[in-house]
Amino acid sequence: MSVIVRFAPSPTGLIHVGNVRTALMNWLYAHAHGGQFMLRLDDTDVARSTQAFADGIKKDLAWLGLAHDLSARQSDRFDDYERAVQSLKSSGRLYPCYETGEELDLKRKLQRTRGLPPVYDRAALELSDAERASLEAEGGAPHWRFKLSGNPVRWTDLIRGEVTIETSNVSDPILIRQDGSFLYTLPSVVDDIDFSISHIIRGEDHVTNSAAQIEIFESLGAAPPSFGHHPLLTGAGGEALSKRLGSLSIESMREEGIEPMALNSFLAKLGTSDPIEPRQKLEDLINEFNLAKLNRAPAKFDPQDLKSLNAKLLHEVSFDEVADKLKELGVDGGAAFWDAARTNIEQIADVKEWWTIVSGEINPVIEDAAWAAKAAELLPQGDFDDQTWGAWTTAIKESTGAKGRHLFMPLRLALTGRSHGPEMAKMLPLIGREKAHARLMGSTI
Ligand code: GLU
Repeated sequence: MSVIVRFAPSPTGLIHVGNVRTALMNWLYAHAHGGQFMLRLDDTDVARSTQAFADGIKKDLAWLGLAHDLSARQSDRFDDYERAVQSLKSSGRLYPCYETGEELDLKRKLQRTRGLPPVYDRAALELSDAERASLEAEGGAPHWRFKLSGNPVRWTDLIRGEVTIETSNVSDPILIRQDGSFLYTLPSVVDDIDFSISHIIRGEDHVTNSAAQIEIFESLGAAPPSFGHHPLLTGAGGEALSKRLGSLSIESMREEGIEPMALNSFLAKLGTSDPIEPRQKLEDLINEFNLAKLNRAPAKFDPQDLKSLNAKLLHEVSFDEVADKLKELGVDGGAAFWDAARTNIEQIADVKEWWTIVSGEINPVIEDAAWAAKAAELLPQGDFDDQTWGAWTTAIKESTGAKGRHLFMPLRLALTGRSHGPEMAKMLPLIGREKAHARLMGSTI
């Protein structure tokens, strides 16, 4: 059987880290099994879905490198859903209901006060043809529910193992609203059948849906695919992640300088038995991916941990991999500059600060002008290399008696204008003799 999985977001908002984690799991699963990854836009809610959000989702996935092999949008497929509706109506699995929202609320309240689960009582199934006709004559268009079997639905979940849902404890799901629009439940099954989806990997908030959907697959004459329900990501305090939280959007992470592979590495390992370490290539994540490594508890997302991983990833990136980005940032220092700067950045744009120190003007900080002038005098002649700093500071130490912090800090402050930064042995050859000399003499060059 060929593996085809799908990521099925609704384009009603920006996608956030939780959604992308699901996308990544599906993408990795497809690639680990030589399969295909589909992007499906669940846009049956035409009022809330927008092209701008759809474009945003595609842009985010492309930025992360999660290319899709297939794509579809539900708003193109209403005819297909209509055919499924006819089939379910004729087999008696889809039935019209006329209760208003308030009536249903009231029923649920009464059930709760009697200590009963708030399951729909199927009163609509008891209506006679005459009662239905009179309700419709009063202007009450029906909504439509799928009639669950009342039997247990069982499957072997790729993540949760053996799952049993007693459908007798579940309300018959509404598939079509009173205004004729589809909820996602039926279109999703029709798509999964038509696009031969082999595995549905999604959040555990869908476990109950899955039981109903398995019965819908069967009642449409199709074998259900395999299911895997992963624990959700929560905020640091255990709260659900919301699309409304703009800071969790992929767009805002991109703007904050998070590298796509930092986010991929983080989300692929968060909530698994593997340590969270940077990986430079999706290939590495494919090789390490296994749904069996997922913990059963929800995983907490801490933006600070992501930032640390981003810094760690940058510290390990080779010059060749960042050369284009450095050029975009107007940084032209070659491999030697990258080697000096990379351990002192949290995001790539931070190199600009160190680049200014190497190539632009700074305000040297000098406490003892005479001592600094002496150090300037002792600067070695000829080209500087990674040995120059050692030789120079030894000479200053011998000549002035300064050592340790009292030797290194004044030099750093004079040459860079800052009290911290990349290794001076690497920075000095980049700054060069002329600038170093001038800065020690108090010039801003
Ligand atoms: N549009 C649904 C959601 O975002 C898709 C769920 C599924 O993967 O079936 O929750």
